[in-house]
Amino acid sequence: MKKSSKKNFQTVRGMRDILPSDWPVVDFVFSKVQSLYRSYGFDRIETPIVEDVGLFQRAVGMETDIVTKEMYSWVDQGDERLALRPEGTAGVVRAYIEHGMLNLPQPVKLWYWGQMFRRERPQAGRYRQFWQFGCEVLGSDQPVADAELIIMMYRLFEELGLAIKVKVNSLGSEQCRASYRRALTNYFKSVVSKLNAEQKETLSHNPLRLLDSRDPNVIALKEGAPQIIDYLNEDCREHFLKVVDYLDDLDIPYQLDYTLVRGLDYYNQTVFEFVLVDEQGNESLALGGGGRYDKLVEELGGRPTPAVGYAMGVERIINIMRERKIDIPMPPVPDVFLAQLGDEARKKSLKLFEELRRIGVNVSQSFGKEGIKQQMEVANKRGVKFTLILGQKEIMDGTILIRDMENGIQEVIDFNKIVGEVQKRLSKVNGNGQ
Ligand code: AMP
Repeated sequence: MKKSSKKNFQTVRGMRDILPSDWPVVDFVFSKVQSLYRSYGFDRIETPIVEDVGLFQRAVGMETDIVTKEMYSWVDQGDERLALRPEGTAGVVRAYIEHGMLNLPQPVKLWYWGQMFRRERPQAGRYRQFWQFGCEVLGSDQPVADAELIIMMYRLFEELGLAIKVKVNSLGSEQCRASYRRALTNYFKSVVSKLNAEQKETLSHNPLRLLDSRDPNVIALKEGAPQIIDYLNEDCREHFLKVVDYLDDLDIPYQLDYTLVRGLDYYNQTVFEFVLVDEQGNESLALGGGGRYDKLVEELGGRPTPAVGYAMGVERIINIMRERKIDIPMPPVPDVFLAQLGDEARKKSLKLFEELRRIGVNVSQSFGKEGIKQQMEVANKRGVKFTLILGQKEIMDGTILIRDMENGIQEVIDFNKIVGEVQKRLSKVNGNGQ
């Protein structure tokens, strides 16, 4: 026989299926995030996954890794240059401008939860399609807006049962950064022989990025580097001090990290990052971060509008919650199972199922299975309290059986009275009058 030439397809590298067993924890995190944003007065926004490639080039920066190496972009059949979004802020800012949200009472507070795409090297905790949730506060230059974002994230991690460390820094204004950049360039030039070719390239383009480096060599060199805090002007220093003052007032523990620069071009003033702390108290993994981006709205064609925001990685949060076996509520188990035998019974069961569901009974069935025995196995597996059984005899008699799954006692009930009987029994066991 000829061997089948059909190929077995698999998920593309860096992509993954989100299986039924993954969803309870995803749903749990989503519900926490949603209620957090509601309570802090944020409105939800969803922008398209596909945008003009120029939006990300301009917003994220032409020289960033995200744009040069990781963005999925293509020219479509209509010669439009498009990209899958690698992050959420650019799209939200575009929407803010496009829909005239500058005319709404400011600040406008928006949150999102969506898929992002980056063609990074796949490794543990890094995917090419992943979820981020995040928020943007547009139209406030107040330090309290920066602090509020940090505080609410801290609260979320408390609620999720994850210990984190908050790192904060200020990148100052453009002017502060320019003088810092000069000082930093001079410093790294004095130790340039210790840098590799790529790092030398970074030094000539964007020396601040060297502070982001994970190379132990550069990490050691950072020790002797000048610190941004010494280059902040009066206003920037005051802004930053106010932010940390609010954090102190609310007893939010944080760590000043003068090497924190974040990988995107649009940040100024306050930047922050949330880092997971392992059981030994060591920093392990960045869960997300953000900062102020006062020039971005203008850069993308809007009126000058100060703004601040952050993005968090959902997969990392979920993976760690799993690893640490953090308790999450499971979806409720159905109360009643409907088993049937024969065509007539199936028809009648379909109707009864709808009726029970309509009055709010958590009912389940397996109409696709033929035998009563198999259906009883499903009922057992699902852990229901009662099973209703409709066979040929019951159809003829106008009755139905109700089986108490705990003690196995079965009773014959008039079919017309079964809905009331189910309600009565459930209200007894659940104590909620259902
Ligand atoms: P960033 O804005 O790049 O700092 O991303 C914010 C957060 O999103 C990170 O701290 C991660 O938790 C998450 N994240 C970024 N890239 C990926 C990725 N490729 N896969 C999974 N999560 C990611």
